[in-house]
Amino acid sequence: MATATGTNTPAPAILTCSLLEWYDRHHRSLPWRVPPAVIAAGERPDPYRVWLSEIMLQQTTVGAVKSYFDAFTSRWPTVVDLAAADLDDVMKAWAGLGYYSRARNLKKCADLVAHELDGRFPQTEEGLRSLPGIGDYTSAAIAAIAFNRPAVVVDGNVERVMTRLHAMETPLPAAKPAIRAAVREMLPEDRPGDFAQAMMDLGATICTPKNPACGLCPLQVGCLAFREGKQERYPLKQAKPEKPVRVGAAFVAERPDGAVLLRKRPMKGLLAGMAEVPTTDWTARQDGISSRDGAPFPADWKPRGAITHVFTHFELRLSVFHALADIEAPEGHWWSDPASLSGEALPTVMRKAVAAALPHRRLTRRR
Ligand code: SF4
Repeated sequence: MATATGTNTPAPAILTCSLLEWYDRHHRSLPWRVPPAVIAAGERPDPYRVWLSEIMLQQTTVGAVKSYFDAFTSRWPTVVDLAAADLDDVMKAWAGLGYYSRARNLKKCADLVAHELDGRFPQTEEGLRSLPGIGDYTSAAIAAIAFNRPAVVVDGNVERVMTRLHAMETPLPAAKPAIRAAVREMLPEDRPGDFAQAMMDLGATICTPKNPACGLCPLQVGCLAFREGKQERYPLKQAKPEKPVRVGAAFVAERPDGAVLLRKRPMKGLLAGMAEVPTTDWTARQDGISSRDGAPFPADWKPRGAITHVFTHFELRLSVFHALADIEAPEGHWWSDPASLSGEALPTVMRKAVAAALPHRRLTRRR
């Protein structure tokens, strides 16, 4: 086997070949993916489906995304269809995927592509990055996968593979430039799209965080971490400061017919425009209101335990209260009847609060 000069490590191009051969045989079958044999026959993936999947996959697992992807593409098969959709319907269909600013940007981006770009996504990283909701990673992923551009695509999976392959002693995030350089060295001219997906698949299925299946790995022959028997040592990470905790109370009011009182969050800020049950402010003060003193109106509020939800920048602990109430919905609120509740744009934290207050109720998602 050819090796890099003076070492026992195979040249990057040889590792790439081995990776692509593995991908040809063992790629994951995903609803948005065009298999390598079909790509080789000259077909390209639909940029709309690639874009949609990449936005959905930001911070979310493949398993969680599949059903949302199928629901979105059945209902809105093209970017023009999505642009014509009502924002509220898109938010409702997105509910549960988290990071709701992404859903709003998704709609903005669809509007822009449909109305200003004639329904066609830009093909370059730079062009893609100029669209709402598309950052460095996503623009690289779309450019590579949809347009076969030689873009360096590095997500958490790829970071893990590359830091192990090279036994990188620099912790993340400082190691990022070295990781990008190492990926660039391996980038094949003819199949950058398949290469990006092969790296993702390798990280997701073989080079897993715990117990990587090195015996099945196409990069094993060049992997320094494997050679040292220290696979799980990498990637090294800088210690993160603990997340601050915020507290508050959530009030689930239930009408005798089973309807639940909801309101819409402000259009700016966290979970903007989503639905919620009335809550107190979420405050970092540990003596903040987390009791029935913060109830939106007098009723026989009964405690129903507490829920915790971790956001990007803080952890939220909400005490949950429940009361039966038969009042007119206050201004800005509405009663959501049992048949409609599952389809409301309730973020996960609010679904947890409703589930704590109404444990007998199954909150399924509308598809
Ligand atoms: Fe990861 Fe093991 Fe492959 Fe190295 S040999 S890249 S540690 S799966």
